[in-house]
Amino acid sequence: MKTIQEWIKEYPLINELVATKEVFWSNPKYEPFQENGDYLPFNEKDIKDAEERLKRFAPYIAKVFPETRNLNGIIESPIVPIPAMQKKLSNMYKHPLEGTFLLKCDNDLPISGSIKARGGIYEVLKHAETLALKHGLLTVNDDYSILASEKFSNFFSQYSIAVGSTGNLGLSIGIMSAKLGFKVTVHMSADAKKWKKDLLKSKGVTVIEYTGDYGEAVKEGRKQAYSNPNCYFIDDENSHDLFLGYAVAASRLKQQLEDLNVIVDENHPLFVYLPCGVGGGPGGVAYGLKLIYQNCVHCFFAEPTHSPSMLLGLMTGLHDKVTVQDFGIDNITSADGLAVGRPSGFVGPIIESLLSGSYTVSDNGLFELLSTLADTENIHLEPSALAGVIGPVKLWNEKQGKEYLKNHNLKDKMKNSLHLMWATGGSMVPKEIMHEYYKKGVTLSL
Ligand SMILES: *Cc1c(COP(=O)(O)O)cnc(C)c1O
Repeated sequence: MKTIQEWIKEYPLINELVATKEVFWSNPKYEPFQENGDYLPFNEKDIKDAEERLKRFAPYIAKVFPETRNLNGIIESPIVPIPAMQKKLSNMYKHPLEGTFLLKCDNDLPISGSIKARGGIYEVLKHAETLALKHGLLTVNDDYSILASEKFSNFFSQYSIAVGSTGNLGLSIGIMSAKLGFKVTVHMSADAKKWKKDLLKSKGVTVIEYTGDYGEAVKEGRKQAYSNPNCYFIDDENSHDLFLGYAVAASRLKQQLEDLNVIVDENHPLFVYLPCGVGGGPGGVAYGLKLIYQNCVHCFFAEPTHSPSMLLGLMTGLHDKVTVQDFGIDNITSADGLAVGRPSGFVGPIIESLLSGSYTVSDNGLFELLSTLADTENIHLEPSALAGVIGPVKLWNEKQGKEYLKNHNLKDKMKNSLHLMWATGGSMVPKEIMHEYYKKGVTLSL
């Protein structure tokens, strides 16, 4: 590997990253979308298959999680316009922000209140289905609400599921696995919040705590799980099923936008801003959106200044062969959902030519956005989930953002543009902790 100084010489932006300054990066490898690019390991059929599986499980989900009954057991979140926040950001940054601002409220996803309720729950369901089909207890034409019986929970109790997590993935997998009857162990990194661990323990989940970061929790969890043949390890750094579960969001989003009479086409570009940790969530969503909207959608990832692992992997082309710690960055952030030092093993190469760009946000910036969004729209998100909200400001104000708009002939189309910020979590945060976050944001904004 090159030295840090050699990397900086090649990519001067790394200097800013190492200094944990906020950066905006437009991806030089971005290319017009090719549906059958051989760099893509999945296709539309795989996503469709995941979507169908979630439909099969919907009667079961509706039965055991009553909060999902209004959508008949489909775990989905609303999209809401945020005009007051848009106006406030325009004033704060002294730049009129054109177009329509929309928030994708995965903070309100039922069951676990974060984007992990997509991929995490999907992978547990897929594993449960595989086991039940294999043992002749289920056929794909059955009404899956039969899974809510003692017969099935007894069956699943012979098996265990394990996962490494900074918090939200553990919540999704823990809650879903425990509901089905699996034994479940969540390996939690040091940055995982106490309330998330307590909540899981209250559901009968075994929580193992580590003093190291997310990468270490995953590594140790993987090791323990592989020594037990009845244990299934959900591997956030490598899982294709998680990715496909996230990707299902795209076709549902298309339907939601159509229902709102929102147009996306060449003259009405859609910009999507996705908070990124290991990359599976934002990668899956971005991949699904590119399949649908191709060159009319522009996807940007957002990471904390102290955990820019995906950006570092993309910029250097080293992907999961590099950690932020290799560059002397500490991976310590209040955005626990994004506190990842090493990016996914397969997402980087998939999105290498699909992603428009990426940027970083400071923790203080996240808290300021948190209280501002609460004041303007009465929407309360966890710190990680705010990373997407500043995207349009960056795109308009930063040098590489302006260049991106110019190079893709987007400047004249901005008045018709659509900006979708993916709010990735928040509704599970206990009230008093949310209030602390809010107060911190207010103090910082003074
Ligand atoms: C996990 C998470 C993300 C990012 O998802 P990855 O798959 O880790 O990239 C974003 N926001 C929140 C709140 C999360 O929990």
